Amino acid sequence: MSEPPSGSGPHAFEPENDATPAPSKRNAPKLDLSRPQWRQRLDEEQFRVLRLQGTERAFTSPLYLEQRPGTYACVGCGEELFSSEAKYESGTGWPSFFQAIEGRVETQQDYHMAVPRVEYHCVRCGGHHGHLFKDGPEPTGLRYCNNGTSLKFIPRDASSPG
Ligand SMILES: [Zn+2]
Repeated sequence: MSEPPSGSGPHAFEPENDATPAPSKRNAPKLDLSRPQWRQRLDEEQFRVLRLQGTERAFTSPLYLEQRPGTYACVGCGEELFSSEAKYESGTGWPSFFQAIEGRVETQQDYHMAVPRVEYHCVRCGGHHGHLFKDGPEPTGLRYCNNGTSLKFIPRDASSPG
């Protein structure tokens, strides 16, 4: 059987840095990797979308039809971005949400097209996820149009509640 680790190295103590962070907003440490590191970590399509602001072809992601309760996390860093409660069928061919988990995505203007759009990305790793439109359903009226390849679905029963 597995033995407990004995004497876990010279740095087994916690550093005494007890400046307690504000409890209101959880700030996961940023994941800041180089381009070669991202290439290693992601597959080709994930790299193209997340790091080069690509867009997957519509109706290609299995997550488009995913309906189970759970959480959608960033495939680049694991940050949880959307709850299944905010997912809806938009008819666009991309997984769509009317709300992101608070503080998990950041938006910026995207000038790649003639008509500027609002792109959004994971706050933790900066990975591009999709574009934000104002034609979503109530209660927000927003549509987070997300590339499925940027997301990892975590079914709820995999992580026991409470
Ligand atoms: Zn991320």
